[in-house]
Amino acid sequence: AAKAAGRNQWRFFTADMHQRVSQRLALETGLRMALEPGAQELALVYQPQIDTATGRVMGLEALLRWNHPTLGPVPPSTFIPIAEDSGVIELLGPWVLREVCRQIDAWLEGPDAEHFAGLTVAVNVSAAEFARPQFLDHLQAAVQALRASPRTLELEITESLLVQAAGDIIERMHTITEMGMGLSLDDFGTGYSSLGYLKRLPLSKLKIDRSFLLGIPGNPENEAIVRATLSMAHDLGLMVVAEGVETAGQRDFLQAHGCNACQGWLYARAMPAHELAAWLRQQHEAMPGRSPRAAPQP
Ligand code: C2E
Ligand code: MG
Ligand code: MG
Ligand code: MG
Repeated sequence: AAKAAGRNQWRFFTADMHQRVSQRLALETGLRMALEPGAQELALVYQPQIDTATGRVMGLEALLRWNHPTLGPVPPSTFIPIAEDSGVIELLGPWVLREVCRQIDAWLEGPDAEHFAGLTVAVNVSAAEFARPQFLDHLQAAVQALRASPRTLELEITESLLVQAAGDIIERMHTITEMGMGLSLDDFGTGYSSLGYLKRLPLSKLKIDRSFLLGIPGNPENEAIVRATLSMAHDLGLMVVAEGVETAGQRDFLQAHGCNACQGWLYARAMPAHELAAWLRQQHEAMPGRSPRAAPQP
């Protein structure tokens, strides 16, 4: 009887495994199809980053969306790891870079250009992608096609890249900042890397992970972590962006402790490119003194 039960368990286990593997395979195949020309399943949405002190929009973060033809929207937390493991990231990463560069030029050369002037656009780059030898070539090609200044672009990398921070990764980071782009460290505090790298790498920003904002104000542990991060980052000359700011209480705490920028649903959700112009116009009209339109017309 024990043997039979064991066999049943085994069969159950394999059925479950099989299902998960085939689900991943289906998503991997789906992603490859989504990258075919004309598929129109992939799109970028953009979330504003707000200067905490002035309330002005400082920049945008590009976030990838995938609308699967039968499954509907698949979240990046599901498909990005699959893209990384399967190697599809080799195609997906360059697609995102090209699309962001195309969008930046479209904005800066379009009718609402004044509202996009001076904004940075951040792009997430997977560690698996950044570490590939071809990455720099793809980046250089995208930036060459970009008519706007490369200073418009920022790359968001994560600590998982730094765990394997071999000399060539660090060298690559320097090459990127020498090209004019900013480097931000995303999800700060969630990885397992040492803090020593912070002084050796050409980073310009730290992004405090959303998980540390939970229960703020009021959660003494998270408050201590956020205060310590801000103090350390500022002493090292890094700007700090808080992500996942949802409440006025969080914003007030971050402002009181000198956090440079906030990104979160309190201010705005990520939105499609075409909605952004109207949103920015409205922001600038609500702050007439700071509106680019208030500047004397030539
Ligand atoms: P991330 O780079 O840390 O992006 C921030 C995530 O927090 C986004 O989730 C954003 O929609 C979400 N978020 C922003 N404000 C709030 C808030 O106030 N409350 C809550 N609950 N969430 C908020 P999203 O778009 O689902 O992306 C998840 C992750 O997927 C990203 O985390 C990033 O690691 C990855 N990702 C997204 N787009 C790309 C991409 O184009 N390339 C790569 N390699 N990774 C990407
Ligand atoms: Mg990010
Ligand atoms: Mg160029
Ligand atoms: Mg993050």
